[in-house]
Amino acid sequence: MRIDQILAAFTKSQLQTFRNILQVLALNERTIVEALEYVNVITQPKQGVRLAKFCPECESPMRLFQVNTPNRATEVGGGYKSQWQCLGCGHDIFSKNTIQEEIDKARRLQNGTR
Ligand SMILES: [Zn+2]
Repeated sequence: MRIDQILAAFTKSQLQTFRNILQVLALNERTIVEALEYVNVITQPKQGVRLAKFCPECESPMRLFQVNTPNRATEVGGGYKSQWQCLGCGHDIFSKNTIQEEIDKARRLQNGTR
């Protein structure tokens, strides 16, 4: 399919925004994949974390996922149940809380009601 046919689904305004995003990414030497991960984190209604946790190393948002599930691809040992990973520098924070407990904790911190 030709590029104009593919992009015909978007308005001129959306494409201008897209161009702005690409320019900002290029200026900061970041990839579309990294941007997409970030968008996925902040638009995930189920988790509702929305930037609740930022990396202590570089202050980028962090994504949260389950580890040590029966699927061995997520095996990290240590009795951990979840892991925060920085979208900026890859810094990891492991937790023995479940994802839901981490989300609840992050929400309480965000609301200032520890
Ligand atoms: Zn970081």
